[in-house]
Amino acid sequence: MNCKICGKEIAESRYITDVLCSENCFEKNFWNEIIAERDKYIIINNTCYRDGGKTPGNYFKGFGGRRFYIRFFDGREITTDNLWCQGDIPEEYQNTLKNEAEFYYPEEKLIKTKGGANH
Ligand SMILES: [Zn+2]
Repeated sequence: MNCKICGKEIAESRYITDVLCSENCFEKNFWNEIIAERDKYIIINNTCYRDGGKTPGNYFKGFGGRRFYIRFFDGREITTDNLWCQGDIPEEYQNTLKNEAEFYYPEEKLIKTKGGANH
């Protein structure tokens, strides 16, 4: 069999899902798959996240169910309590997987915080 990424011939793959020769090729394959399904992921500060969306009942949620507010550079805003971190994007992929959003705190919350102080 041959490595899916570099084509090197190997006796066996220690990865279940794909034939891959090394940790390095495993990582390349991981990021290639993210690029292939780009719209499922959110890139913030060179870190890749995925919004797991709504999960029924007691399923595990990303970041223990912590709520995140995300604003895309095009103005779209989303909020999720099921965000999953996919890892830091290696330098060689940062040109392809560009930052596209930032975390923010919703305005109501900021106003409430500010309201407590006397000016
Ligand atoms: Zn390889």
